[in-house]
Amino acid sequence: MTYDAPVTNDCLFCKIVAGEIPATVVHETDKTLAFRDINPQAPSHVLVIPKVHHPDAATLGAEDPALAGELLRVAGLVAAAEGIAESGYRVVFNTGAGAGQTVFHVHCHVLGGRTLTWPPG
Ligand code: AMP
Ligand code: ZN
Repeated sequence: MTYDAPVTNDCLFCKIVAGEIPATVVHETDKTLAFRDINPQAPSHVLVIPKVHHPDAATLGAEDPALAGELLRVAGLVAAAEGIAESGYRVVFNTGAGAGQTVFHVHCHVLGGRTLTWPPG
């Protein structure tokens, strides 16, 4: 198992954690990092990631449920800081390529600032 490795080679988000690729960081804890999505799909679009590498939400939830919960705690703090907590926002973990996951370092999208329709595309 390599999932508990703090940084993996050729992982974009590990490189952001390592400071090798720049990001607009909006929140940081010892275990998490939140930064703006480079291709925002809503006026507020922030990604919240654990600093350690886990490929997806299922793996993170199975291997470190406390850290999975920490991502949700931070998502709530980010939403409040973005001013979208009252209007409503969406927390999304795309899991698997068929669901649109393109970066296989688990991340939750925090999206808000516009009306979000359901069902999603
Ligand atoms: P997903 O498709 O759910 O895996 O989400 C990956 C997200 O990462 C997409 O919304 C991308 O726009 C975003 N993204 C890709 N590269 C970067 C980057 N360098 N900085 C910030 N966000 C990025
Ligand atoms: Zn990674």
